[in-house]
Amino acid sequence: MKKYIMALDQGTTSSRCILFERDGKIASVVQREFSQIFPAEGWVEHDPMAIWSSQISVATEALLKIGGSWNEIYGIGITNQRETVIVWDRKTGIPVYNAIVWQCRRTAEYCQKLTDDGLEMMIKSKTGLLLDPYFSASKVKWILDNVDGARERAERGELCMGTVDTWLIWNLTGGKIHATDYSNASRTMLFNIKTLEWDMELLSLFGIPCSMLPKVFPSSHVFGYTDAKILGAELPIGGVAGDQQAALFGQCCFDEGQLKNTYGTGGFLLMNTGNEPYMTENGLITTIAWGLGNKVTYALEGSVFVCGAAIQWLRDGLKILESAQDSEYYASKVKDSGGVLVVPAFQGLGAPWWDPYARGIIIGITRATNKYHIIRATLESMAYQTADVIDLMKRSTGISVSALAVDGGAAANNLLLQFQSDILGATIERPDCIETTALGAAYLCGLSCGVYTSTDEILKNRKSERIFTPLTEDSWRTEKIRIWRRAVERSLGWKE
Ligand code: ADP
Repeated sequence: MKKYIMALDQGTTSSRCILFERDGKIASVVQREFSQIFPAEGWVEHDPMAIWSSQISVATEALLKIGGSWNEIYGIGITNQRETVIVWDRKTGIPVYNAIVWQCRRTAEYCQKLTDDGLEMMIKSKTGLLLDPYFSASKVKWILDNVDGARERAERGELCMGTVDTWLIWNLTGGKIHATDYSNASRTMLFNIKTLEWDMELLSLFGIPCSMLPKVFPSSHVFGYTDAKILGAELPIGGVAGDQQAALFGQCCFDEGQLKNTYGTGGFLLMNTGNEPYMTENGLITTIAWGLGNKVTYALEGSVFVCGAAIQWLRDGLKILESAQDSEYYASKVKDSGGVLVVPAFQGLGAPWWDPYARGIIIGITRATNKYHIIRATLESMAYQTADVIDLMKRSTGISVSALAVDGGAAANNLLLQFQSDILGATIERPDCIETTALGAAYLCGLSCGVYTSTDEILKNRKSERIFTPLTEDSWRTEKIRIWRRAVERSLGWKE
């Protein structure tokens, strides 16, 4: 009777629903974009009702599309854009303000003040996070400080706050359940990732009443049941995780030292560090990957600001490509980059360089350089930057890396992945199901709803579409990286 796990994938620009069969095969996908709201420079908001209505409509349509019935669904897994936060009225369910999106910089000045006050280390040691407007806490404070009457209402216990998963759980259960999972809680900057509790000192620093907070549960857990009036059936909500953590789970990186990279607009690297929350410097984030049973798994997270975006720039800025896909064909017209290096530090550089004043460069140009070299060097820059973050992770943990699981739009590029394997000296594995984020949410749900008995059983579903193995010597790798680092040095501190 039961056939599918329903994954709700609530992203930054669209809501998607994917129905997975038990073996991880996709039975149905529906996606709907919703509006981005930009009220001022650097501000980004979403209408919480648009998030909810787009999500619920794709869920219904995904089932309709295959003529399925709600009785065929084992349960629902949720994965979501992280850090984005909503504040709403506990009685009416009406938001007091738009969702403030992770990208929103409105609290930059306030976060700078906290840095100037010397609070960075305290915050990092409790939450694992960098003091940045990215995370939820300063956004909630902004709402309480700026929306008429919000602080008073919050203090009277009338308001709830939540990341997008919490907002969806609340609405799916008809306002019965106010909850989140460890992975999402760890992105709020209010959660102590070692004691696994909301942190009183941080709540008082940001002026957020405890009564606003959701209850925190493991990521694989029955959070509650959907209200039959909303979905036509009472279905368990059995799995919840933030998008990057869900992708790590969907890539079956269940063991310490396993890691995945998502080659999207930016690059997102997560390494499973087991039960150890390694605290590092140089811009890596320590985060909760997931809670399973009574165990919490931690991860190190690093990002590459400009990854696939560099290919977009070749296409839209330089106009030397018609499409991102063509980059592989053009790059393969030359045997190497001809000594050219591209450092796409368009917005400064992140880990391990951490220099907001770095700017992009193309270096090593000679009279023999042509556009194919530049395209190839741009693809290679994605691999070098990824290798730099992995190197930092290895040095911070002492954990060795033998394989990297990949996904995201640019992971379709074989030339990129072969170069990545060569430069890392590690195997690269591209899975047959590239919808790893939704798949992770489905697996977390499947574990709590009895579809799978263990992660070992899930592992049997994993199939590689293609494996790339290194074709180069250590000496080649060392030399290439040495030259890359010389190029990076020249991009640093450029903007005055
Ligand atoms: P996001 O989810 O961040 O929007 P996607 O995972 O959809 O991104 O990936 C899109 C990015 O990948 C774009 O920046 C695009 O330039 C790049 N991209 C897509 N296909 C290729 C390809 N075949 N080779 C290199 N880059 C690609």
